[in-house]
Amino acid sequence: MAYKIPLFNLNFDEREAQAAYDTIKSGWISTGPKNAELEEMFAKMLGAKYAVSVTNCTDALHLSCMICGFGPGDEVLCPSLTFAASANCIRYTGATPVFCDIIGPEHINIDPKDIEKKITSKTKGIVVVHMAGFPAKMDEIMAIAKKHNLKVVEDACHGPLSEYKGHKLGTIGDCSAFSFFSNKNISTGEGGMFVTNSEEYAAKARLLRSHGMSTMSYQRATGHATEYDITELGFNYRMDDIRAAIAIEQLKKLPGDLNKRLDVRRQYVERLSKIDGVVVPFADNKEFVSNYILPVVLLNSNKERRNKIREFIHAAGIQTSVHYPAIHRFSIYKDYGAVLPQTEYVTDNEITLPMYAALTEEQVNFICDVFEEAVREIK
Ligand SMILES: *Cc1c(COP(=O)(O)O)cnc(C)c1O
Repeated sequence: MAYKIPLFNLNFDEREAQAAYDTIKSGWISTGPKNAELEEMFAKMLGAKYAVSVTNCTDALHLSCMICGFGPGDEVLCPSLTFAASANCIRYTGATPVFCDIIGPEHINIDPKDIEKKITSKTKGIVVVHMAGFPAKMDEIMAIAKKHNLKVVEDACHGPLSEYKGHKLGTIGDCSAFSFFSNKNISTGEGGMFVTNSEEYAAKARLLRSHGMSTMSYQRATGHATEYDITELGFNYRMDDIRAAIAIEQLKKLPGDLNKRLDVRRQYVERLSKIDGVVVPFADNKEFVSNYILPVVLLNSNKERRNKIREFIHAAGIQTSVHYPAIHRFSIYKDYGAVLPQTEYVTDNEITLPMYAALTEEQVNFICDVFEEAVREIK
C-alpha cells in the first residue's frame, strides 16, 4: 500500500539530476574533483579541519574504530538504541561492544552514568550516537573520556549541522561518521563522510579508504604521480564523483531544508505535548538540530499497544517506523547479556512519525489528529 504521508521524502529535483548528468559527461566518474570539492564544503560547513568521503557511514565508522586503535581484547562502549552499524563497527576491529543504557524517554541518548559504571581496565573508547540529530551529553562524555584516556567516535549520521554548545556535532570527539543513505538528511543513495580535526587521522583515513595506496588514480591520471606503494592493509571505501556531485547539491539545500524541519518539529511538539501519556524526546532542546526523525514515546504502555497504535495510524494512510529495535536483542548480540531497562522500555514504546521539509501544516495537523485518536482509543 502506498502511504498518503510517507515517513520521509527525498528533497531531490532537477539540480541533483543535472549534477549527475554533468559528471557523467565530464568523463571522470570515480573519486576525483567532485569528491575533493565535496570534502572541502563539508569540512567548512562543520568547522572541522578534515573531511574524507567514503562509500557509506558504516565504512566511516569502521575507519574511525580502526584509527582510534580499537582491537582484539578491547572493550568499546556504545548505545543499543541505534542502528546495528554503531556496534558492528566495533566488532570489525576485533574489539567487543559493551552496551550502555539511554537516559530515558525524555533523552534517548547514551547515559554518561551508565558509561562510567561500565568502564573496565579493557575499555578503550566510546561510540556516541546523536539520536534524531539531538546531541548526546557531550560535556559529560568528553570529561569521562579524558579521565579514563578513552577515544570518542561520534556516529553523527543523524546530525549534519546539529549544534552542541557552539560546536557542530561530529567535531567534538576524536573523529566522526556521517551517512548519505537515501533516507538521511543528505541523500546520495549510498555515501558517507569521515570527519576529524587530526591531520594524522585524516591522512590515515585517506590511505585506508583506497587500498592503503600512497597515491590515488585521479592523481596519476592527471599526471601528478606515476607510481604507488601499498603501505597499509586498506579497503576500497571510495565514493564516486557521480554521488559526490549529488551530495554537493544536497549540501547547498541543507540549511533551508533543516529550517523547514524546525518549523515542522515546532508544530509537532506543540500538538503532541498536550497529549496525556506521550513524551516527545528532547522537547527541552534549544539548540539548532537537524531533526532527522520525529520520535515519540508512549508512557505506561507496552509493545502490543504500541504496535496497535501504529496499525491504526497506518490504516489512516500515514507511515510510521520504530527507531530502533534495540541491538542487544538481535540474535548476534543476545549472548552479550546486556540488561538495559530504559532502552528496553523505549524500544518497545517508541513510534517515529513522518518528518521532512515538505510536510505541510495541514499534514502535520492530520498526523497529530490521527495519533491523538489512536492514543485515546487504544488502551
Ligand atoms: C544510517 C545509520 C548508519 C549507517 O549508515 P550507512 O550510510 O547506511 O552505512 C549508522 N548509524 C546510524 C545511527 C544510522 O542511522
